Amino acid sequence: MNDFALIKNVFSDLVSSRRVPHAVLVEGATAEKRQIAAKYLSMYAVCSSNNCPCGECKNCIKAKGMGHSDIYTPKLSGKTNIISVEAVRELIKDASIIPNEADTKVFILYDVDRCMPEISQNAFLKILEEPPQSTLFILTAESSKKLLSTILSRVQIFTLKNEKADDEQTDALALEIVEGILSSSEKKLLLATAKLNNRVVFKDTINAVNEYLRQGLSYSVGNKTDNETAKSIAKKLTKSRIIGLIELSSKAAIRADRNVNMALLTTWLCGEYRRISWQR
Ligand SMILES: [Zn+2]
Repeated sequence: MNDFALIKNVFSDLVSSRRVPHAVLVEGATAEKRQIAAKYLSMYAVCSSNNCPCGECKNCIKAKGMGHSDIYTPKLSGKTNIISVEAVRELIKDASIIPNEADTKVFILYDVDRCMPEISQNAFLKILEEPPQSTLFILTAESSKKLLSTILSRVQIFTLKNEKADDEQTDALALEIVEGILSSSEKKLLLATAKLNNRVVFKDTINAVNEYLRQGLSYSVGNKTDNETAKSIAKKLTKSRIIGLIELSSKAAIRADRNVNMALLTTWLCGEYRRISWQR
């Protein structure tokens, strides 16, 4: 289960709720990680133990070896290896048949942003709108951006973190945002927040912004720091404004998890940062 240890916490809410959703989308990280995540979720869906996925029951072992009769992956076809409309139709037909050995039937569709043309996505939509009981559709994608919004609104999205999510890059952008918040010109903040163009970057960066703000707050209540950014935060903003900004960032990170339009979210965030830091 070592491979799974890394991605386990991504699904902890799902697992602790003991719920099997109808459709999930795993995005981010690498194709390999997404594959591991899909396998983990398929085990979760078919596992026959109370502590699922146990990794040890007959269902889990078969799922791990990709040899479970209730776990199905559509065939790719054509020169470009796509999931054709025909393959989707076959899948829909298959989904109406009850599972063999497990309680749930699982369909894994890998890298749908690459493999699933719009026409196939539209055909697939039909079954997402009225999913048969006891089925789980697991979709993976490098980014959910290329998928139809009608698909996105019907799947639960999980974003895998890129481990080397370029911590340095995240930190640099967070710093740019903090400087934008502190700057008297709105342009700096607008330019910086415009770079928050995907969910993973957004969340990582906003968390890093909050880290700076917390250090600033800590400094302003008398704790020592060597961090110059924390010092300028404390110098330019009152405690209540810093607290307001921290609360706002947390709220924004939660919103990013829902299927909101990222451009609208960053515009809103930029406006709110300005309002809280500059309002008289
Ligand atoms: Zn099991």
